Amino acid sequence: MPVAADFRLDNRFRALGPEFADPVEPAGFPETNLRFRNDRIARRVGLDTLTDAEWVATFGRFEPLPGAPDERLAMRYHGHQFQVYNPELGDGRGFLFAQLREAGTGRLLDLGTKGSGQTPWSRSGDGRLTLKGGVREILATEMLEALGVPTSKSLSLIETGEKLARGDEPSPTRSAVLTRLSWSHVRFGTFQRLAYFDRADLIGQLIDHVVELYYPELADTDAKDRPAALLRAVTARAAQLVARWTGAGFVHGVLNTDNMNVTGESFDYGPWRFLPHYDPSFTAAYFDHAGLYAFGRQGEAVFWNLRQLAACFTLVAETDPLVEVLNGFGELYQAEMRAAFVRRLGVSPRDEAADTALGTATLKLLSEAGDALRWEPLFFDWFGGVASEARAMAGPRAGVYAGATFDAFRAALAPYAPDRPERLTHAYFQRPEPEEMLIDEVEAIWAEIDARDDWSALHAKLARIGEAREAWGIALP
Ligand code: AMP
Ligand code: MG
Repeated sequence: MPVAADFRLDNRFRALGPEFADPVEPAGFPETNLRFRNDRIARRVGLDTLTDAEWVATFGRFEPLPGAPDERLAMRYHGHQFQVYNPELGDGRGFLFAQLREAGTGRLLDLGTKGSGQTPWSRSGDGRLTLKGGVREILATEMLEALGVPTSKSLSLIETGEKLARGDEPSPTRSAVLTRLSWSHVRFGTFQRLAYFDRADLIGQLIDHVVELYYPELADTDAKDRPAALLRAVTARAAQLVARWTGAGFVHGVLNTDNMNVTGESFDYGPWRFLPHYDPSFTAAYFDHAGLYAFGRQGEAVFWNLRQLAACFTLVAETDPLVEVLNGFGELYQAEMRAAFVRRLGVSPRDEAADTALGTATLKLLSEAGDALRWEPLFFDWFGGVASEARAMAGPRAGVYAGATFDAFRAALAPYAPDRPERLTHAYFQRPEPEEMLIDEVEAIWAEIDARDDWSALHAKLARIGEAREAWGIALP
């Protein structure tokens, strides 16, 4: 198989041993119809050179990559779902297919699947993913990446020719298998499971594994200080993640502890939504009746999850330093929030007080304007700060940019210099309207696929997102 020269397999999770995962077989699918291959992402791990036939053998039938054992691992984990502990989780419809080193950086990345068949952790589930779910995950990851949110990447989507029954989609519905490229699938829930079985030894082993592979800068920390040092690093990443979701106007929807990993990358996209307009109580999941994971409560939810992770670490460390780390979350979160709004507005940060005032004025404007000013258009119109004023005032929302609240926003923005002002010359900023990802558009893209098997709307959308990604220039490496 012609993998590129920089393809490098390094199955490190497997080396942790049998306590952490179970070998599983992929489902044999009646069809393997390639729907999406992300060569931009495949290039990072030397897989962009596969022919379509090899791609389908790899990501539709999960034949081993060159040099890899014929083995796929369903990872073991528990987790809190809506704050209720569930000891029956684990990879119920996916597995870790392989781990690869990233070309250039050497970073260890995971190929993880969704919809690849049943495992010992499927409970009553069919181990499958709906095609619509796969399409939605592609749209979410491409948009979030462009918006500078740390996220898993959608690498492959293959339609598998089965008919699935689902409560949240007209059924029967089409099936697919997705492969994502992600920094780590070690979840908060991976530690929770070990704590549940009182396995301090394995918690220590997993902490060492995570430090070695994902936080090598902590490798010299004394063994007794390591858990707190790791918690601090994970807390910082988690604070950044929530702040960037917020800046993106994104609601993940299901912030359970099995959906949060130790590298602070967003992953596992289910009922996600982007905000139509600012509303802290906006929820994505129809089953989130209490609004536990509402837009404005994502910081709180992630903090709650960090507390569960810290609780696991008490099996191997003193409590006080862990508590101290948790107490630092608020400050980290505020700093990341300031940075997120500054980044979305395309300006250079100033000082803490000014950046705080800018974030507050932005939210106040969005809040008061209600549905007259959606989330994304504000950041589009004022990208680069007042350098965009003529463009903003010549655009369709000029009428919204008046009144006391707007004046306060404009005054807060006025002293800011554009960050990388050359970005404003990008064709994206000459468009009449920004790129958004609202539910009606997502449903319309799906409707074309569903009704006519027409994939052109999806591909056109992905091309437009690509243009926005280039224009913003904030995607993480
Ligand atoms: P999620 O909400 O996707 O994070 O999934 C929560 C848990 O349910 C995980 O253990 C999944 O592996 C499992 N799960 C979700 N959907 C299915 C399915 N269709 N079949 C088997 N297990 C599933
Ligand atoms: Mg999950």
